[in-house]
Amino acid sequence: MQQHSSVLGYDQRMSRLRLVPPTEPSAAEQVRQRVRRMARPDGTLLCNRCGSRTTVTVVTGAAVKNGRVQGGTVLARYKCAECWKRGIFSPMLPELKPIK
Ligand SMILES: [Zn+2]
Repeated sequence: MQQHSSVLGYDQRMSRLRLVPPTEPSAAEQVRQRVRRMARPDGTLLCNRCGSRTTVTVVTGAAVKNGRVQGGTVLARYKCAECWKRGIFSPMLPELKPIK
């Protein structure tokens, strides 16, 4: 029997990590894969994670002067808006590349 550490949080009943074979993608994931592989017009930004074409730019510290929004610091530019809603920072790319 292998000795385990007595570090807090370790549970003797925890099973070991195992490699499992890949499963078939769900219907929703199959749609996402199809959209990502679709031919896109030259230069069109498309999320390689979800296939959305909506971008978001985040600016902090902007102010309204003379009726126009001015200044501020750009925190994020051209990120996927749909992934942003889920807390994921996914860059928009004009070609299909693997997600890191
Ligand atoms: Zn996305």
